[in-house]
Amino acid sequence: IDAGAWTAERVKAVDKEYVIHSWSVQGSLDPIPVAGGSGSWFWDYDGRKYLDFQSQLVNLNLGHQHPRLVEAIRAQAEELCYIGPGFAERSRAELAEMIANLTPGDLKMSFFTTGGAAANENAVRLARHVTGRHKIVARYRSYHGATAGAMSLTGDPRRWAAEPGISGVVRMLDPYTYRCPAGHPDPCPVCSGGPHLEELLQYENPETVAAVIVEPVTGTNGLLYPPDGYLQSLREVCDRYGIILIFDEVMAGFGRTGEWFACNHWNVTPDILITAKGLNSGYVPLGAMTVNERISEWLRTNMFWGGMTYAGHPLACASGVASLRIMQDEGVVDNSRAMGERLGAGLAKLAERHPSIGDIRGRGLFYGVELVKNRATKEPLVPFNAKGPAAAPVGKLLKAAMERGVYLTANFNVLRLTPPLVINAAEIDLALGVLDEVLALADEHYQG
Ligand code: PLP
Repeated sequence: IDAGAWTAERVKAVDKEYVIHSWSVQGSLDPIPVAGGSGSWFWDYDGRKYLDFQSQLVNLNLGHQHPRLVEAIRAQAEELCYIGPGFAERSRAELAEMIANLTPGDLKMSFFTTGGAAANENAVRLARHVTGRHKIVARYRSYHGATAGAMSLTGDPRRWAAEPGISGVVRMLDPYTYRCPAGHPDPCPVCSGGPHLEELLQYENPETVAAVIVEPVTGTNGLLYPPDGYLQSLREVCDRYGIILIFDEVMAGFGRTGEWFACNHWNVTPDILITAKGLNSGYVPLGAMTVNERISEWLRTNMFWGGMTYAGHPLACASGVASLRIMQDEGVVDNSRAMGERLGAGLAKLAERHPSIGDIRGRGLFYGVELVKNRATKEPLVPFNAKGPAAAPVGKLLKAAMERGVYLTANFNVLRLTPPLVINAAEIDLALGVLDEVLALADEHYQG
């Protein structure tokens, strides 16, 4: 083993030889070797800085290297790095109690996992046990994780490579008002939620359906906000048929949308809430399944068929406790809301200058900008599931932003603007300035 210095070149070469990166053809990659980060920024070995307008995988809500969060992990490491899930441990107990207090309604007990997918797996299995039914209703424009069950719930094309997946998953259409799959009549059965779900249940037999799982605000698959009344309508249908409602707030939870939880915008409480990412800003792998009072009571007398070596890992839970305290002490949710308003106002101005902006959707710091070739026809700048040359118009825009020091990503034709919740006004303005420049590249494809 070479004990020499880790230069940028060495990191790149060893990475290329030995590391398998997610969702990619390995030979096509050229990842930037990252040397460090602070707040909303990270940098390479040459000191070139990038404004992280993604919060990495929309998880680094408190930014890079928050000193209090780093210190909490260090302190827990000194006290107790690991104890099995069968023991009662302070950071685990404290985090579960904090989550019960912060989450809406009667959400109460939590099971801790190492991320979002595992939490969704446990939610589905638990819903099946509680109801004695097996089917799960999920949506097409969704991402629930990369394990077998979570990938089967997922609608995103990444599911195709994992099919046939687990059995019993049926899928409903999404309240994508900008491109409504039902043509958006008034009232729209799909975008109002309940009527579409009810029709599907009729064909599936509601007595076989254990759960409905949705992202209250769709993250990865295009930043889709449901119309007012949608979640309430799903809630009512689920209650009528004894179906468990699961909200996957892995991306949207913990301040991302300018409220503690996305479902708070509409005052709807699920039976099971799934969180991860912003729960501890991803400093240590962590996810949580939080269940309501009724399921908590059920668990007191019934077996919970779930467990992992790292369920409720003390380092992860301690970082969760610290993260939630920091959010409260530093007014992070308020900052998300205020900076989101600034970002939204800036984007509205950009839309006046850039015809390729077809739609802007967002609250807090959870924005999507949908790029089109024509505002009247809404033809997307790149098609659904575009890859290679077909995706180039967006790829070039992202590359140009990176060259100007702003890290952005997209879901096909939708730019994702999800900076750390601790971002400041100058940083928002800097990103808007770069967007103004690079959107000119999208405008070149405009056919208005
Ligand atoms: N659910 C949602 C809504 C997500 O956005 C993600 C990840 O992006 C997941 C679940 C999966 O979480 P993880 O990657 O931690 O397993």
